[in-house]
Amino acid sequence: MDSVKQIAENTPETSADSSDLPMAAAEPVPIRPERRQSPRTWETPPAPAPPPHLDDYRAIVGEAELDELRFLARDLKRKSVKMVNSTAVGGGVAEMLNRLVPLLGELEVTTHWDVITGGNDFYEVTKAFHNALHGSAYDLTRQAQEIFLMYNEQNRQRMQFPEDVVVIHDPQPAALIGARENTSARWVWRCHIDLSNPDPRVWGFLRPFIEQFDAAIFSSQSFARQLPIPQYLFYPCIDPLSEKNKELDDSFVQKVCDEFGVDRSRPIVTQVSRFDRLKDPVGVVQAFKLARKYVDCQLVLAGGGASDDPEGAVVLQEVKETAGNDPDIIILDLPPWCALEINALQRASTLVVQKSIKEGFGLTVTEALWKGKPTIGGAVGGIPNQIIHKLTGALVHSVEGCAYQIRYLLTHPEFAAQLGKNGHEHVKENFLMTTNVRRWLLLFRILLGRRTT
Ligand code: UDP
Repeated sequence: MDSVKQIAENTPETSADSSDLPMAAAEPVPIRPERRQSPRTWETPPAPAPPPHLDDYRAIVGEAELDELRFLARDLKRKSVKMVNSTAVGGGVAEMLNRLVPLLGELEVTTHWDVITGGNDFYEVTKAFHNALHGSAYDLTRQAQEIFLMYNEQNRQRMQFPEDVVVIHDPQPAALIGARENTSARWVWRCHIDLSNPDPRVWGFLRPFIEQFDAAIFSSQSFARQLPIPQYLFYPCIDPLSEKNKELDDSFVQKVCDEFGVDRSRPIVTQVSRFDRLKDPVGVVQAFKLARKYVDCQLVLAGGGASDDPEGAVVLQEVKETAGNDPDIIILDLPPWCALEINALQRASTLVVQKSIKEGFGLTVTEALWKGKPTIGGAVGGIPNQIIHKLTGALVHSVEGCAYQIRYLLTHPEFAAQLGKNGHEHVKENFLMTTNVRRWLLLFRILLGRRTT
């Protein structure tokens, strides 16, 4: 840690929010290679890669950590767990469950994963709840409440809960707790979103359901609410062996860049995010345009979800309008099964940005840090747990602050590289899948108490 500390102390006193961009002369504009007008598109998802085994992590985390997991799981054999969420693909929660479930299974903790079903009206309501719990104003109508309860009730009737522990992820299936009285399970609510400033009506509506659980888990200290049940802190995690995070041949990275017209001979600034206002893609374009007055760079905005989310399509349109016909801004609307391409774009990047104005944990930040990328993040949600300012990355609070950090890091590559290195270590210690498995095993042991022996 000594070297880490030193870096922080030796850094020039730059404010996270400084807009003090020195008035250096703009760089001459280089001649850029032609890029494809429309990137390749994918019609169908490729077959999923088989999930890794515990032993595959040995080279990354070491044998001792794996032994600890086996030891903790020993008393949980023959126990079973059900995870319930609202989507099997897309977003951080599904990504995590895709790995967690087979690893728990390998440790002989039988784990089932059920996805609730609902119509468009349900997902419109739950999307509005999601935004409202993040603090957006929302007029909670009786109709919205009825839709929420109706689909939860339909799912409750369809599903069975014979497991020892039931884990409900996020608000969408929270009312399934109504099934609790007919089960002997311990029920846990795993909240992945930032509840620090929720719309009071939506939280007031959900709270009576949450209070019936045996425990709640939050992704950051600041997300938790006052509740009469025990609360636990679980950082989310990434899987270093997933397609999104595994090492890639440079030839593949080059191929993806060629495909999308990204020029690797020039600095690349990237934000990977759904086209969602809370991810502030428009702010990223504005910050990029400010920074690019002083330092040559390209911007890659790789997102998804715009085709099946009406709000996403509107945000994508706003991003395109803000970008104008700037040839250095590459906007990619990708389907959800482009993990390898996202991985390659992150690896090709000189800097990664996640300029969210509200955020859950921000797995894209974890992914970038794991790849050793100097990362700039909005100081919201779980991002400050990952980015310690000037130590493992740079935190920003504004478009101008973001522009300043892009310019600073691009012109101080040694400092930027050290941030990337520190960030990688920080993820290795705190935010990998194996750490997450350990937290779940410990929690199951606590919840099942003497029932484990
Ligand atoms: N992601 C993706 N394609 C996209 C946008 C995002 O695969 O077009 C992935 C991203 O790499 C990350 C996850 O989706 O693994 C997003 O998680 P995060 O916590 O950053 O944000 P969320 O979308 O869950 O709010």
